[in-house]
Amino acid sequence: MNNSETHTSLNFIEEIIEGDLATEKYDGRVHTRFPPEPNGYIHIGHAKSICLNFGIAQKYEGLTNLRFDDTNPATEETEYVEGIMNDVRWLGFDWENRLYYASDYFQELYDFAVELIKKGKAYVDDSTKEEIAEMRKTPTEPGVESPFRNRSEAMNLNLFERMKNGEFPDGSKVLRAKIDMASPNMHLRDPILYRIKQNPPHHRTGDAWCIYPMYDYAHCVSDAIEGITHSLCTLEFEVHRPLYDWILIELGTYRPQQIEFARLNISYMIMSKRKLRQLVEQNIVNGWDDPRMMTIAGLRRRGYTPASIRNFADRVGIAKRENVVDMALLEFCIREDLNKIAPRVMAVLDPLKVVLTNYPEGKTEEMEAINNPEDENSGTRIIPFSRELYIERSDFMENAPRKYFRLSVGKAVRLKNGYIIQCDEAIKDENGEITELRCSYIENSRSGSDTSGMKVKGTIHWVSIPHAIEAEARMYDRLFTVEDPDGYKKEGKTFLDFLNPDSLKVLPKIYVEPSLKGAKALTHLQFMRKGYFNVDPDSTDDKMVFNLTVPLRDSWAKKQGRK
Ligand code: ATP
Ligand code: MG
Repeated sequence: MNNSETHTSLNFIEEIIEGDLATEKYDGRVHTRFPPEPNGYIHIGHAKSICLNFGIAQKYEGLTNLRFDDTNPATEETEYVEGIMNDVRWLGFDWENRLYYASDYFQELYDFAVELIKKGKAYVDDSTKEEIAEMRKTPTEPGVESPFRNRSEAMNLNLFERMKNGEFPDGSKVLRAKIDMASPNMHLRDPILYRIKQNPPHHRTGDAWCIYPMYDYAHCVSDAIEGITHSLCTLEFEVHRPLYDWILIELGTYRPQQIEFARLNISYMIMSKRKLRQLVEQNIVNGWDDPRMMTIAGLRRRGYTPASIRNFADRVGIAKRENVVDMALLEFCIREDLNKIAPRVMAVLDPLKVVLTNYPEGKTEEMEAINNPEDENSGTRIIPFSRELYIERSDFMENAPRKYFRLSVGKAVRLKNGYIIQCDEAIKDENGEITELRCSYIENSRSGSDTSGMKVKGTIHWVSIPHAIEAEARMYDRLFTVEDPDGYKKEGKTFLDFLNPDSLKVLPKIYVEPSLKGAKALTHLQFMRKGYFNVDPDSTDDKMVFNLTVPLRDSWAKKQGRK
C-alpha cells in the first residue's frame, strides 16, 4: 500500500504536493477527498481514485474525507451510499470520522448563492433548458445574453427565495452565474448553479429542498468548506477548473487546488456507473455484483482481493493523458496475489470415469497433500483415494502422438498426490463416445514413497468418485467482444451491441475433493491445472457453487492470436 516502496520517482501529483509542502501553501497540510455520487455501485475506475486519494494522504500524513456528492435526488439512493462505504472499507481504506455529504451543505450553498446574487454575480433566468443551450452558441461564436440577465438584485433575491419555497415548477427557472457569454470556455458562459426539482424527495433531506445545486457549484464549495487542499479529479474536469476557481474567488473563501489526472479505462469493459446500471436494469447481468462486472462488488464476488486491486492501481500509475489499460494487467495482479494465498485443490470440471481394475473394491487410502507450495505455513490435508476416480476428459487422448504425456491407451501417467496409473482400455458407448477408462495402478508408486522406478512425464489431477462433492462452476469470460465497446458511436452502435454471448458458461456438474465441504463464501482456491476459483455466496449445504476468478494462464491473448 505504501507507494514509496514501489515507486522511486514521484508522480506529477506528488510533485505538486511536495512543492506546496515546501512553500507551506496550505500550512503544510495535505487533505484529499473521495467524492462519489451515490447513483450506483463504484467500479475499478473509482478504486483508482480511492487508492490515489487515500494513498497520497497516507504518504504525506494527511487526511482523506469520504464525501457523498448527493446533489441529484433523481438518481441517488441510500442503498448506494451503503454499498460504496462497504466497498471503500473492503479495499482497505478508512475515512475514520470524516464522512460527509454535500447535502449537509445545502443551507450554506444556498446562503453563498444569495451572496453571489448580492454581488451582482448571479441571476434567475426564466429561459428553458433548450433556450439556454441555444443562447450559449458554440465555442467558435460568442453566446447571446439572456433577456433575464440584467434583472435587479431585489428581483433576483425575491425569485431565488421563491424558487426555494417551491413556488415554481421544474424547469421554469434556474439560477445562473453571471460570468462571460463570450468566453471561449463554454463552462464560463453563465453556467447554471441551481435547478428546481420538486420530486422525488432527497434520500437524506427529504422534502426540505426543491432546488438543488449543480455539480460545479456544489463541488468547489464543498471542497472549500472541508478545507481540502488538493482536489483530485479526472481529466474531463480540466475545462471546469476556471469555474471552480471563479466561484471560490467571488465568494472570497479558502481555495483548494484542483488537479486533474487521467481516468482509468480498461479494454473490453465499460467504465460508467450509468452504463453499468443499464446492464443491471436490463437484466443483462445478474445484479451489481455480477462477477463479470468491473464493480468492486463484482470483482469481490469474482474472487479478486483488495491487495490485487490496490496493486493494479499502483501499477497503472497516475497519468495526465487518457489511455486504455489492458485487462490482462488486472488479471496478472490477481494471479500474482492468489498464487501466494490460494490453497491448491483438485477439481474435475469435465469428468471422465476411471476404474482401477487391480485396486481392491471398497478400499480407501488417505493421501497427504500440501495445501500451497508457495506458502510454507499452509499445511497439508488428506485426500481420499479409491478404485473409481474422475479425471479431466481432456487428459485422455485416443491415438495420441508420441509427445503426448497424459493418458492414452498403453500409456502411463502420475495421479497428483496418488499413484502412477496405466490405461488398458477405453470403453465407448454406441455413439463412439468414451464413457470410461479401464486402468491399472502401479502398487509401489505411491507419491512420497515411490519405489517403482517408473518414469512418467505427465501428472494429472483427479477426484475419488465415492468421496467427491458434486458442484456447479460458473466460468466467466469478458463481457464485451471488442476492446472499446463505446467506440462505435459513428456506426450507430452502443456497448449493448457488443455483448459477449459466452461471457458466462455454467458447468452444472463438476466434482471437487471432499476437503472443500463447508468452505465459506468467497474462499479463494486454485483448482490445480485449471485456474483460480472462489466459493460463490449462492452456495448452499446441498450445492456448492464456484466462480472462475481467472484461468492460470492468459488464454485470451492466445485466442486473439497475440501470443
Ligand atoms: P461514473 O460515470 O462511472 O459515474 P463519475 O466520475 O461520474 O463516474 P463519481 O461518483 O462522480 O463518478 O466519481 C467519484 C470520483 O471517482 C471522482 O473523483 C471521479 O473523478 C473518480 N472516478 C470516476 N471514474 C473514474 C475512472 N474511470 N478512473 C479514475 N477515477 C474515476
Ligand atoms: Mg458523476
